[in-house]
Amino acid sequence: MKMLITGGAGFIGLNFCHYIVNKYPNYDVVCLDKLTYASSLESLNDIVENPKFKFVKGDICNESLIDELFRDEGFNVVVNFAAESHVERSIENPSVFINSNVEGVRVLLDACKKYGVRFHQISTDEVYGGMLLSNSSDKFTEESVLKPSSPYSASKASADMIVMSYYKTYNLPVTISRCSNNFGPYQHPEKLIPLTIKRVLKGDDLLVHGNGLDMRDWLFVLDHCKAIDLIINKGKIGEIYNIAGNHEITNLNMMDNVCEIVGKTANKKHISNRPCHDEKYTLDCSKIEFELGFKPNNNFNENLIYTVNWYLNHQDWLEK
Ligand code: NAD
Repeated sequence: MKMLITGGAGFIGLNFCHYIVNKYPNYDVVCLDKLTYASSLESLNDIVENPKFKFVKGDICNESLIDELFRDEGFNVVVNFAAESHVERSIENPSVFINSNVEGVRVLLDACKKYGVRFHQISTDEVYGGMLLSNSSDKFTEESVLKPSSPYSASKASADMIVMSYYKTYNLPVTISRCSNNFGPYQHPEKLIPLTIKRVLKGDDLLVHGNGLDMRDWLFVLDHCKAIDLIINKGKIGEIYNIAGNHEITNLNMMDNVCEIVGKTANKKHISNRPCHDEKYTLDCSKIEFELGFKPNNNFNENLIYTVNWYLNHQDWLEK
């Protein structure tokens, strides 16, 4: 098996590279990453010496580089994590999101079509758009209408549609997974958990969007890696799978949990909501559970303690 992992120097991609190299020592793995501000090449140091692992610096939008790589390497499967991923940055500068998250996916799909390669796209629950907090019973299934709110989620929804069009039009073997908020080691400190740790350690106020009561589901990144692995090996071609951690809490609760583990308190300062804010995105994950037997482990508290301690033991990471 020869696997291309794009965006493998970012948060989830780094965890996935480590997971795959450790679980399948016989796989040949190539990690391609543009090395944006969100990446950390150093975090691949422990596997970069492995003869079965190779790192290539490059942009998924670079058509000639991608063509050469596919021609020379003979991949069996591509797992695409490469994306701009921060909603607030997408409000400031949508263009880079459309470029990497939409055009980049088109370039990868064309290469997969030309060289006959299976493609898996990492997508997000945000493509469904938000549902109201007062809506206590509905869940988004894979059939739900896409109503993205932000330039980020709109770019991801566009990519999902293009991926499905390559399946229908060219019979390209594709799958898509849509996950909730991931947590674990190696996340950029602009994101909620490492940002909370950074600010509480410095004695800064914690900035809370709106009333802080928006709900998010939290998926431990290693559970996410296991689910992707299952989809790649057993998922049905042409299908989309929702993946959640089944642990939905308010943003305020998440901040409080993190502060408690750090062992410090902080003032909270309420700031205005983002214009494109969504109240919650509850996913129905019965498809991946019944078709592929995937269930996240139920150790949210243990995994959160592990995660917070990882950042406390890597405080230089928080200064990225
Ligand atoms: P991240 O921002 O931490 O990492 C993204 C990586 O992609 C970085 O290493 C960056 O250098 C690379 N990259 C960006 N543009 C590129 C390009 N044009 N060519 C090559 N590499 C490029 O993101 P993440 O949190 O690891 O997210 C990975 C994927 O998972 C994304 O597609 C994101 O939409 C999706 N996702 C993430 C979450 C989450 O909670 N983090 C939730 C749902 C979906």
